[in-house]
Amino acid sequence: MAFEGLTERLQGAISGLRRKGKVTDADLRDTMREIRMALLDADVNYTVVKEFVRNVREKASGANVLEGLNPAQQIVSIVNDELVEMMGDEATPLNKSPKIPTVIMMVGLQGAGKTTTAGKLANKLKREQNARPFMIAADVYRPAAIQQLQTIGEQIDVPVFELGTDVDPRDIVRQGLDAAREAKADYVFIDAAGRLQIDEALMQELADIKDIAQPDEIMLVVDAMTGQNATETAEGFNERLGITGVALTKLDGDTRGGAALSIRAVTGKPIKFVGQGEKMDDLDVFYPDRMASRILGMGDMMTLIEKAQKDYDEKQAEETMEKMKSSTFDFNDFLDQMEQVQNMGPMEDLIKMIPGMANNPALKNVQMDPKDMEHIKAIVYSMTPAERENPDLLNPSRRRRLAAGSGRPIVEVNRMIKQFNEMKKMMGQVLNGNTQGMEQMMGA
Ligand code: GDP
Repeated sequence: MAFEGLTERLQGAISGLRRKGKVTDADLRDTMREIRMALLDADVNYTVVKEFVRNVREKASGANVLEGLNPAQQIVSIVNDELVEMMGDEATPLNKSPKIPTVIMMVGLQGAGKTTTAGKLANKLKREQNARPFMIAADVYRPAAIQQLQTIGEQIDVPVFELGTDVDPRDIVRQGLDAAREAKADYVFIDAAGRLQIDEALMQELADIKDIAQPDEIMLVVDAMTGQNATETAEGFNERLGITGVALTKLDGDTRGGAALSIRAVTGKPIKFVGQGEKMDDLDVFYPDRMASRILGMGDMMTLIEKAQKDYDEKQAEETMEKMKSSTFDFNDFLDQMEQVQNMGPMEDLIKMIPGMANNPALKNVQMDPKDMEHIKAIVYSMTPAERENPDLLNPSRRRRLAAGSGRPIVEVNRMIKQFNEMKKMMGQVLNGNTQGMEQMMGA
């Protein structure tokens, strides 16, 4: 998972501040030095780090932060705002042409994930907007790129235009665009060639294709695992082609996250999507604010809730949100949630989106055993309807009954109820925007 190291370091820097009681200028300087090192070690671009630190320091030493109540809390909030700003503030949607079709040219180095991301985007448009995407196989150099695009096309049921590898990519694009119009496609993806590194021949070819296709979007695909190189690649492509957006892939890998934090600031171009796996639906819209919360270890409740909504009817999800907000969330809701969650994908990924959980040392390398879920369910099933609705009823003798009923040790019953209560409290705080709660979660 990306950002783990960074999250830990930032939390460390801020909790150091918290322990001080009163924060002096010198404390602030120390904290800023730690934050600076943490960002550099996460492979964030040097100039970006410098500016980030300067901005945070300016805001923190302005507005009477140090004299005010809870300086650490205010600094968390300043760091959070700066992270959001650095990554581009708001999510930026895919460009859309007023004319049909919208043309999206996919560019990037070989292996970055260009072909895969073209497929993921086409799939997303088709699924979410009922669009009619079309893909053109114009990468004639990478062995098997055409075959790969065709396989993806079959998998997501999107037509793929190809003329083999012996035709000039410029001609492939011309003819492909005609074919797309004929097929009444509304989005055309051009899978253009990549190379191992930027070279003049590649750039010339891409510039020609740009002239021919007049794309509405030039989407640069970069591999987050390549750290600083990803930022340099983005700069190179942007200077020569004028990219309009970035898709950052492999954020599910063990990346330090620097690319996500630097690209926007260095190129001025937004990250629009992030790839978080190899499957066709592993592509998410990039939300700078959610990413900032994730980096600060405050979780990503919105994405968690949206993931749930995909499998949920919307009304139920809204009701759940309301219950969490008003703290009337009970064990019946908990059971519903568990059942939904079990259909949502690997537990260990989901858990990390819960506030305060991202960097919980107990959860490092956690592999959730599906049996654990079954045990928790067994305990909840042993409750009476009244107990499920009102967890406060669960006194020691009732807990003993639950242990006997579920066949689980009493310590496990106690732990589960404790965790339920903590979760309920945390969710209520986060959803009600209580930053003090968040700060506690950060261990600050
Ligand atoms: P291209 O040369 O740029 O077209 O790269 P490909 O689309 O062939 O991708 C290279 C490899 O990266 C493939 O094995 C993809 O499955 C993998 N890949 C692409 N995006 C992601 C991602 O977001 N996460 C992970 N884990 N793998 C990815």
